[in-house]
Amino acid sequence: MTQVSRRGFLKSVAGMWAALPAVTAFPAIITSKTRAAARAMGKLPVLVCSRGEDWGTKTNAPGWEILKNGGSLLDAIEKSANVTELDPEDMSVGYGGLPNEEGVVQLDASCMYGPTHKAGCVAALEGIKTPSSVARLVLERTDHMMLVGHGAQRFAIAHGFQVENLLTERARLEWLKWKENLSTEDDWLPPADGVYRDRTGRPTGTINVLGVDAQGNVAGITTTSGLAYKIPGRIGDSPIIGAGLYVDNEVGAAGATGRGEEVIRTCGSFYIVQLMRQGMHPTKACLEACRRIVEINKRLGVKIDFTDKFVAVNKKGEVGCAAIGHTKEYKPEVAFTNPDGFVAMAGERFEV
Ligand code: ASP
Repeated sequence: MTQVSRRGFLKSVAGMWAALPAVTAFPAIITSKTRAAARAMGKLPVLVCSRGEDWGTKTNAPGWEILKNGGSLLDAIEKSANVTELDPEDMSVGYGGLPNEEGVVQLDASCMYGPTHKAGCVAALEGIKTPSSVARLVLERTDHMMLVGHGAQRFAIAHGFQVENLLTERARLEWLKWKENLSTEDDWLPPADGVYRDRTGRPTGTINVLGVDAQGNVAGITTTSGLAYKIPGRIGDSPIIGAGLYVDNEVGAAGATGRGEEVIRTCGSFYIVQLMRQGMHPTKACLEACRRIVEINKRLGVKIDFTDKFVAVNKKGEVGCAAIGHTKEYKPEVAFTNPDGFVAMAGERFEV
């Protein structure tokens, strides 16, 4: 496999969309790196991960082994999604994810398969490290589309999954710090160092894995521990088909991360796939989904202090990414693997 990118080498594709109507104030610089990323795109099969170089490399590796050998597309995206779910270092997905406000990890995931146009989703699932695998089983082994909470866990147990403690020490200590910082009036005293902190910003995460096989079949997975310290039972966009994930075998796939409530109320991933159906490039379609969220909030006079990021791939294997951006330093990242190798690249920023 040709290694198109080297570690620590982030390709900027900022100028690739210079020919498209101006949406951001991003400078249209076409670099040789940009051309390399553009040249590498548009080949099948392709596996896409909504992360940059480091996680993209780890995540795509097992799925690509399956896909490049003509294996099952669903096996490929599931094995790749499992990498982050099982890794305690990632605090936004699966095992090691940050818990809800009561210190309980509740996971959301969805899986959608283009050839059958079927989906499976689980939400507020406790104790199972790999919710995307359970979502796949809902897709393949039931006539339903979504299982939540205790029912989702019973279903997982019936399929041989182990119920385990998903709260790592690191995540528990983060949660405790958050809880002790909630108020100076409650009975929880300040964190161990005695200092109350400003409590702005809630960690976000999630991972989308999208794939198109050599025959042009499309599938996707979105998996997350959701908004950190959420109200127990809160379900985000990730397990909602059309919001955190959408797949259409005639068009492509899209997935979302970031503030789920905004993605749900704009049907973000469905909107992107519909725009791609009309011939729009994946990156441009992702930008339009960002634009819609920003415009709605501006119209309502709501301060946009959150972010949302979208990734998409079309049936030709062209990959796109865009996010709502607050600073020039922020570069949304996406990575993909195709027969030419692995590419990590920066997407577009929709400036607020
Ligand atoms: N979209 C996820 C949710 O709202 C969280 C995230 O991506 O950070 O549950």
